[in-house]
Amino acid sequence: MLSWLVISLLLFCVLAYQRASLIIWTGCFALLLIFATSFHGISTGLIVCWLIFLAISIPFNVKKWRQRYISQYLLSFYRSIMPTMSRTEREAISAGTITWEGDLFRGNPDWNKLLACAPAKLSAEEQAFIDGPVETLCGMLNDWDITHNRIDLSPEVWQYIKDNGFFGLIIPKQYGGKEFSAYAHSQILIKLGGISITAGSSIAVPNSLGPAELLLHYGTQEQKDYYLPRLAKGEEVPCFALTSPVAGSDAGSMTDHGIVCWGEHNGQKTLGIRLTFNKRYITLAPIATVIGLAFKLYDPERLLGKKEDIGITCALIPRSTPGIHIGRRHFALNTAFQNGPISAKDLFIPIDWIIGGPEKAGKGWGMLMECLAAGRAISLPASAVAGSKVLSYTAGAYARIRRQFKMPIGKFEGVEEPLARIAAYTYIMDSARTLATASIDAGEKPSVASAIVKYHVTELGRKLACDGMDIHGGKGICLGPKNYLGRGYQAAPIAITVEGANILTRNMIIFGQGVIRCHPYVLPELEAARLQDPKAALSAFDTAVMKHVAFGISNVVRSFVLGLTSSFIVQAPKGKMKRYYQQATRFSSAFALLSDVCMMVFGGSLKRKESISARLGDILSYLYLLSSVLKNYHEQGEPVDDLPIVRYACLYCLFEIQERFDEILKNFPNRYIAWVLKILIFPLGERFSKPRDAIAHKAAQLLISPTASRERLAAGIYVSSHQTNVYADIQDALVKTIASEPIEKLIATAKKDGAIIGFDAIEQAQSALENKVISQEQYTIFVEAESARKKVISVDDFSNDELVRVTTGDFANDELARVTTK
Ligand SMILES: Cc1cc2nc3c(=O)[nH]c(=O)nc-3n(C[C@H](O)[C@H](O)[C@H](O)COP(=O)(O)OP(=O)(O)OC[C@H]3O[C@@H](n4cnc5c(N)ncnc54)[C@H](O)[C@@H]3O)c2cc1C
Repeated sequence: MLSWLVISLLLFCVLAYQRASLIIWTGCFALLLIFATSFHGISTGLIVCWLIFLAISIPFNVKKWRQRYISQYLLSFYRSIMPTMSRTEREAISAGTITWEGDLFRGNPDWNKLLACAPAKLSAEEQAFIDGPVETLCGMLNDWDITHNRIDLSPEVWQYIKDNGFFGLIIPKQYGGKEFSAYAHSQILIKLGGISITAGSSIAVPNSLGPAELLLHYGTQEQKDYYLPRLAKGEEVPCFALTSPVAGSDAGSMTDHGIVCWGEHNGQKTLGIRLTFNKRYITLAPIATVIGLAFKLYDPERLLGKKEDIGITCALIPRSTPGIHIGRRHFALNTAFQNGPISAKDLFIPIDWIIGGPEKAGKGWGMLMECLAAGRAISLPASAVAGSKVLSYTAGAYARIRRQFKMPIGKFEGVEEPLARIAAYTYIMDSARTLATASIDAGEKPSVASAIVKYHVTELGRKLACDGMDIHGGKGICLGPKNYLGRGYQAAPIAITVEGANILTRNMIIFGQGVIRCHPYVLPELEAARLQDPKAALSAFDTAVMKHVAFGISNVVRSFVLGLTSSFIVQAPKGKMKRYYQQATRFSSAFALLSDVCMMVFGGSLKRKESISARLGDILSYLYLLSSVLKNYHEQGEPVDDLPIVRYACLYCLFEIQERFDEILKNFPNRYIAWVLKILIFPLGERFSKPRDAIAHKAAQLLISPTASRERLAAGIYVSSHQTNVYADIQDALVKTIASEPIEKLIATAKKDGAIIGFDAIEQAQSALENKVISQEQYTIFVEAESARKKVISVDDFSNDELVRVTTGDFANDELARVTTK
């Protein structure tokens, strides 16, 4: 009896693990019973087993009975817990497409599929643009002048940007644009953003969610033909105005409105819209020549022949239209990109100014969400990656150059810790944005992945900004032309706030949209439950829910078995990363199980349980980040040198995943369910820890020398030798410092022996030269290193006049721009 029970259990596990279909389940258990009956003959026990088998298998396999006795009740229950959704919520959730995050949600990711996805690549033309105009532009940018004196880009820089097509990166060639890939776009912003956040942001906006993108996807041919060539050439400066003082994160609640009516335009009676709006925080607004505007459209007289409340609509309005108030500036955390409010009262615009014409009236929210689905993965992640790459390049070098207690500070364990984080987080951030942009280039609009990338990359960027400041001490704090960190540190919260403030993105979007779009059966169930025709609803729901039940059973078994076997049984790509693939598969199954249990327990109220939803979103996110790291490492040819950084990155993700599971289970309202889940997910306990000190040490060491790993991490930033480029100075000082280190040892040993005199390093080197401790050549190397080092560790100082702001009234920006008295 016991053996048969064990065999049944094993069969159950194998079928569940392999996600067998209902017919295979039925067939396998029927065969098992036939086999048992022929082996033992008829017995009471077997009769009971046969009865149980028939009682379960017949109703499940006969569709009519299954629908009547099972699915019907499940549908009623489902409808009672189904979340209610507003129209804007529905449009937001259905925007975009699902990529790798969908596979992670299914609990059994196919790693070969991920590795086979086309890698992000630059075309020869894109590379030439980065090596040419982008490089030149970087050389023209003096961020201190931009952020301290002008509070703007210089006129020459603006002109160069417009003349060289920087505003037309995403516009097709047929309209005079560059038609670059999302990856190229991201690379360009990284290079520029690493030098000047102001320049990066000013170029990001026309190429992201805004007039050009909306026109490309939804504009009428006439609108495209008129605006796109002008935008590509920089003849028009666009902005897009969605946010208002009342409607920030909840942009759909805006009170900005337009009423369809007849009015006069160019002396002619015209069907149009009378607009009243008050927007704020609008990037490029103060200098924009064309304004993309989102507002709610009403048609009380039914002039468009639709309903009265038409919905959110987007229009393009030339700045020259009389009645628009624009021009004053907000001042975003000491960055200098143009940003400000726009307002108008009873402004009349022709109906043709709706993007896409009157047919697209009321479709604005969907249009914005679709564009954001892709765009969120580009601009802000690029700005955070730019900062982290700069840190990878500078912080380790600075930690080698800067000495305290007679040692480079980068050799102290306390400094190694943030250095290791800089290396590993940069790897994660770069991998994630690369994976997301590659999927955009493959034609996807990865809405959930882009929210994951936007949230986590900017959050990691903010953490690294703090680590960078800590490593640099006072050097990071004293602002001036020599400070390459302060402005990035100040500006970190900007990326956190825009395109969906991060708390909201984490708590509402990632899992909220993920569970509906990525889960294989939730959307079909929701759609079925919403069907009006009872027969069609039951039939569609039955199909989805039966698969969902099998999926749930499978995830229970998979979580437990993979936890018990520490996922060694998972088939995964071979190599040094195999264990990480396997562990990711294990957590993917456990995540699928936990998501289903949370949906069952919380039902529609899950969207209000933000702490649970955010942590579920974190698990999905860290699985995505981990996958991107594995893919990036694979794509880079798995360099052995990078292993400490990659291992640190993987362990960090796995540890965070474990922590989020733990937090959810600890806060789960039903303690019995939490207890069962804990056994299913962590049958051997929680075994992941933070990356160990030894790995952190190795990762940090890779940053304090000019290693190939450091070069790979920082790849894409502007490092050319140029008078205003401090990164080139740092590299120079690093190389010279390393060359000088053996000479310093010779001097230090001789000093101990009393053969050297002198107070400072140069005097001591002079003495060492005179006493033939070092050669003339060594002396020169030493002196050059000292000089390069001093240049890097020095900070700026100013006269009072240079710091005090004087308003001359000569500037268009005169309330912000600073003019020194010199
Ligand atoms: C420098 C800058 C440039 C910008 N550029 C533009 C632009 O060009 N065009 C444009 O239209 N807009 C722009 N914005 C607006 C931006 O995209 C954000 O959407 C907007 O700033 C968010 O609104 P808020 O700042 O009023 O924050 P609030 O909505 O007041 O939110 C405050 C905090 O509450 C959190 N929160 C809100 N609701 C929830 C919730 N349900 N659950 C959990 N947390 C929640 C948010 O995450 C945030 O942390 C810009 C903003 C800034 C600061």
